[in-house]
Amino acid sequence: MATCKDFHRRSIEQPDAFWGEQAKLIDWHQPFGKVLDYSRPPFARWFVGGETNLCYNAVDRHLKDRADQNALIFVSTETAQDRTYTFRELHAEVNRCAAVLRELGLGKGDRILIYMPMIPEAVFAMLACVRLGAIHSVVFGGFAAHSLASRIDDAKPKLMFTADAGMRGGKALLYKGIVDEAIGLSQHPPQHVVIVDRGIDTDLRRVDGRDLDYAQLREKHMSAQVPVQWLEASEPSYILYTSGTTGKPKGVQRDTGGYAVALAASMQHIYCGKPGETMFTTSDIGWVVGHSYIVYGPLIHGMASVMYEGLPVRPDPGIWWKIVADHKVTVMFSSPTAIRVLKKQDPAYLTKYGPSTLRHLFLAGEPLDEPTARWISEALGVQVIDHYWQTETGWALLSAMPGVEATPLKYGSPSFPAYGYNVKLLDEGSGKEIGANEKGVVAVVPPLPPGCMTTVWQQDERFVNTYFTSFGDQLIYTTFDWGIRDEDGYYFILGRTDDVINIAGHRLGTREIEEAVSDHPNIAEVAVVGIHDEIKGQVPMAFAIVKDASRVADAAGRRAMEKEVFDVVNKALGAVGRPARVHFVTQLPKTRSGKVLRRSIQAIAEGRDPGDLTTLDDAAGIEQIQAAVAAAS
Ligand code: AMP
Repeated sequence: MATCKDFHRRSIEQPDAFWGEQAKLIDWHQPFGKVLDYSRPPFARWFVGGETNLCYNAVDRHLKDRADQNALIFVSTETAQDRTYTFRELHAEVNRCAAVLRELGLGKGDRILIYMPMIPEAVFAMLACVRLGAIHSVVFGGFAAHSLASRIDDAKPKLMFTADAGMRGGKALLYKGIVDEAIGLSQHPPQHVVIVDRGIDTDLRRVDGRDLDYAQLREKHMSAQVPVQWLEASEPSYILYTSGTTGKPKGVQRDTGGYAVALAASMQHIYCGKPGETMFTTSDIGWVVGHSYIVYGPLIHGMASVMYEGLPVRPDPGIWWKIVADHKVTVMFSSPTAIRVLKKQDPAYLTKYGPSTLRHLFLAGEPLDEPTARWISEALGVQVIDHYWQTETGWALLSAMPGVEATPLKYGSPSFPAYGYNVKLLDEGSGKEIGANEKGVVAVVPPLPPGCMTTVWQQDERFVNTYFTSFGDQLIYTTFDWGIRDEDGYYFILGRTDDVINIAGHRLGTREIEEAVSDHPNIAEVAVVGIHDEIKGQVPMAFAIVKDASRVADAAGRRAMEKEVFDVVNKALGAVGRPARVHFVTQLPKTRSGKVLRRSIQAIAEGRDPGDLTTLDDAAGIEQIQAAVAAAS
């Protein structure tokens, strides 16, 4: 058996041989001629000339051996539903959905925006898109109309797929209403909106000619068989928007063949799942983790995947472990925030519904602090594996690889570079490699391995400028994360190098939140920083200057104004970006060149020393932040 070190070394030194072997894990319609074309750095084309299809690999190819095994297990504690689809049933549903989309004129290269709660139709729609060679852009249901509109305008979808409503904690969230609002704000409205009517919104409005009912459309295609559209490996499968330092989210574009191979390989080497078993990923289809490990990864591997609509603590905090026991889940994937929420509950719930069938629990999305890692590992008695990745990479960049070798884990560390990633820790200024136990930027020497983003949707230049220009002339991918490597080669992630906040594993740029806050007509200027939060890792905090100071002259006025800002952000971005607090000041600390000193504001808000203030223009700005924070605590 290879060691992780050998496995990794081979992937870097002999990428053609290594990835050529991994490519056998999926089915190809047409074999590829070349493993890698890297003639136009940093753009990598994997499995050149090969033809395949994600839907075929996730569904059709399993009909031969496992047609009657579970493929999708839907559990909703919000609507008290529990529905299971075998691969045969999933195949039928995906074909019906694909036939509906085809009837509406959708085909190869067309974009379809999916704005859906966690219901099976969302998975059918994703798989139907890739079956047809159409490109899906799934937008997280927590995003509000403004965010949705900017994603519509960038992807220009012909069609949007939505539902009347989702449910969260017993409360209805009216998806279709947000879609209507977003289309109203958009410059490129879609021709059609297909609605899955769950009967939750009894007041559902439809726009004649544009809005169509999915159940009615589906009825006409009950026995549809829609041929798979074979795609060249590097043709796009989907776009997924992610936040960066600019206010405008980037459309992360993914290919087809590289992504399928990367996921298939990860199911074996990282997750150790076995075909026929069940995987439970507690994310949402709107995030990359949902794309890779609720939908494509487990299905490509012939595993059943659990799709859960509900909270981790309702009807009781044992619900996830009940699902694990009921469906004999062997691989689970969740987030540190969710585990910190459960840590506050009675630990008896972890075992209340029976002994765990889990082999591993994987966590990602944000730093996993040592006490939480220790607690959950000991409480569950299974291996808890912290692994590190990004929307851009599509799968783990740093991880233990128990399918290759059972390496010891260290609490607080996502272990070491996954195969395919030539990871370096670089000095931010000089771009030189740093030594053990020194802090550097986590970077990857390209080509990025299969599965990673291939470009920013229709903005090649932005892809290069954003990710590959941080280290002078060297063409190196930056993750925008600080990291450190100990003498044993284990990495530890120390936080972002840019102005990005990670709220419960969800990434938002401070600029995006600042723009949302500025939608309030009385806000003149605002700085948003991420501050430490015991449960969510980080939460945004805003420091705002108002135009009419009389509105915030007393405590009641400040409370009212803060509430108005919350509402404005809710409307623009959704609750995910709402600041925990809005403090009102009359000046922000800035450098002489006018740059807001966010790192100093953040330090003060977290009760730390503000650091180097030599570039500060006027001390009053810092004093105001200090006073505002002191008054609030
Ligand atoms: P996203 O693309 O929204 O999934 O966010 C990716 C970012 O989340 C990374 O750049 C890191 O800042 C953070 N992140 C993801 N996984 C981990 C992890 N295991 N440990 C520490 N930070 C992580």
